Amino acid sequence: MEGEKEVYCLEHCKGKKIFGFQIPNHCPHCAEDLKNCELKMPPFRVPSPFGNAKNCPCSIVLKPTTGNFLTDYKKSDNLHMGIVSSFGTVYEFDMDGLRYDKTYTWSRCLVIKDLNKDVDKNSWAQYWDFTLNVVAGQDNWKKIRYDEDRNNCFSFVLAFLRALQCPELSHYARDRRQFCEKYVLPKTAFAAKYISLYRKLLSQT
Ligand SMILES: [Zn+2]
Repeated sequence: MEGEKEVYCLEHCKGKKIFGFQIPNHCPHCAEDLKNCELKMPPFRVPSPFGNAKNCPCSIVLKPTTGNFLTDYKKSDNLHMGIVSSFGTVYEFDMDGLRYDKTYTWSRCLVIKDLNKDVDKNSWAQYWDFTLNVVAGQDNWKKIRYDEDRNNCFSFVLAFLRALQCPELSHYARDRRQFCEKYVLPKTAFAAKYISLYRKLLSQT
C-alpha cells in the first residue's frame, strides 16, 4: 500500500485556506512570496483520521472490505470491522471464520477507541482481552456459521460489545443501526471530508 502523504493547511489572504501536500512557495490566490510575508494562519498538518490498528489497543477498527480508504473507498462500500486486543492484535470474523492473523492489513483504518474512559487502564485492558477471548471461543464464529448478511464481522463486534456490559456502549451495541449512528457515522463522516480533500490534492499533483 502506498504511503499516506501529509496534508498541510495555511492561510494567507482573502480568508481562503490553502491546502497541499507541500507548503507552496507562492500564495495561489495573490501570488505573493510566502517565505517573506506574514501569514494569517501559519502552516499546520491536517490530522489524518486514520490509524494503524496495532498501535490502537482496546479499540474497534473499520476499513473498506476491499481496497483502502484513501484511493478506493466510496460512500456506499461495505465496511469491514474488527476488534483490537490490548496487545494490538486484530480479531475479525469473515468468510474464513474468526481470524487473528491479518493485523498487517489494518495499517490505515478508522479507530473507535476510548470506549470506557472511566476505568483504570490496566484492569480495562485485562477485562477487554478476557471478554474478547470468551466471545471469540463461541461456536457462532466458526467458518460454517458465517453469513454475509446475518452473521458477519459486525455481528461479532456487537456480540463482544454487549458482552462487555459497559452501560452506554453495550446499550447501543444491541442494535446495529443505533451503534452505527452513535459510533460509526461520526468517524466515516469525518473521514469522508479528509478523503475528498486528499483526492482533490492528488488530482492536482
Ligand atoms: Zn495571498
